[in-house]
Amino acid sequence: MNDCLPDATDTWQAFEAIVRDWLRRYGYREMRTPILEHTGLFKRAIGEVTDIVEKEMYTFVDELNGESLALRPEGTASSVRAVIQHNLLYDGGKRLWYSGPMFRHERPQKGRYRQFHQVGVEALGFAGPDVDAELIVMCADLWRELGIAPTLQLNTLGDYESRHCHRAKLIAYFEANQDALDEDSKRRLHSNPLRILDSKNPAMQALNDAAPRLMDELDEAALAHFDTLQALLRANGIAFELNPRLVRGLDYYNRTVFEWVTDQLGAQGTVCAGGRYDGLIEQLGGKPAPAAGFAMGIERLLSLMEVAGTPLAPAVSDAYIVHAGDAAQAYAWQVATALRSAGLAAVLHCGGGSFKSQMKKADASRARYAVIIGDDEVAAQQVTLKPLRGTAEQTCVEVTLAIEYLKQASTEKA
Ligand code: ATP
Ligand code: MG
Repeated sequence: MNDCLPDATDTWQAFEAIVRDWLRRYGYREMRTPILEHTGLFKRAIGEVTDIVEKEMYTFVDELNGESLALRPEGTASSVRAVIQHNLLYDGGKRLWYSGPMFRHERPQKGRYRQFHQVGVEALGFAGPDVDAELIVMCADLWRELGIAPTLQLNTLGDYESRHCHRAKLIAYFEANQDALDEDSKRRLHSNPLRILDSKNPAMQALNDAAPRLMDELDEAALAHFDTLQALLRANGIAFELNPRLVRGLDYYNRTVFEWVTDQLGAQGTVCAGGRYDGLIEQLGGKPAPAAGFAMGIERLLSLMEVAGTPLAPAVSDAYIVHAGDAAQAYAWQVATALRSAGLAAVLHCGGGSFKSQMKKADASRARYAVIIGDDEVAAQQVTLKPLRGTAEQTCVEVTLAIEYLKQASTEKA
């Protein structure tokens, strides 16, 4: 679990501002749910035989009433719970998003943390492949804005019946190859054989590659859905790779699944993942309604932006105000107030000291200008503006004019 120090927080806020505006442009609205939920919600939504539920959840018993609670490991279960609880789909489909910390007890490594952050997007109540395409197209749009280029892997998991047929064939196949299975896979063989295909163990790769393909079992409706999705992606200039091994680590998906992956972040290459989960709302007790969505990992996206060299401007203040003498100090307070009222970010030097030592503080600050106030400035009711970056000249002007200069400077690129 990481601390986010001020420099990093500047970066996160710049990223979050881009993301919020991107979601606004697509008509998605933010929803905020609690970080704690009943453990049972995640068991029912994500599936008992998954990495998350079997070994990654932080759970504890609420000693006041004996209930088992969990720190949320993902956001879809909570979103769907809230949508059912508040009957949000009563008048049709909803486009929603959430963002915040998620918790999974994983082995920490670069790009894999125990508290990490996701932005999640859910389109609830829409059945067609058009909304699947919208979700993917909007991702591509965001990647352009972030200056990154992950690639799209796409698959379909079909519907219940085809998965049922496939499951029987998978079990038969893995049973015939019992000796080649690792421990996890042996355990999952009868409870959740599809999960075996999601194994990250390289030793399982060859066996998984030769396993029966779900693609070969798909019924007509699921095939048509998948075909239309692909046509829409092509029409919108979205390149993708079909990956029949893509099954996702959560049980609730059906039909469309996708991942945006990169080879620039080492082993943790998936920056965004999602798909369709038409059965989940009903499974959690709601009126049946289709749904699709995705979640992206903020830490991995920020790392990828760093590799790509996308600048996320650090926050800078407009002015650092230095002053010497009692009269100057009183005037400096007035000037600071005037600057802030005008919407400028002004840091007023505290703690006294010589001009020279105050100027050192100004230089080390993130301010664009030092605003210098001494006896001469008080007498003239002016301030001296000294640029701390760039090539502008030092000038002595009245406060109203100083505000104009500082505003002008704040609109120029840092
Ligand atoms: P992985 O295969 O990397 O474990 P996952 O399938 O468990 O990922 P999802 O549950 O689909 O991941 O979460 C969506 C995204 O959230 C991932 O693609 C990734 O970018 C990010 N993510 C998931 N787990 C972590 C983690 N422990 N630390 C940082 N980011 C994570
Ligand atoms: Mg995982």
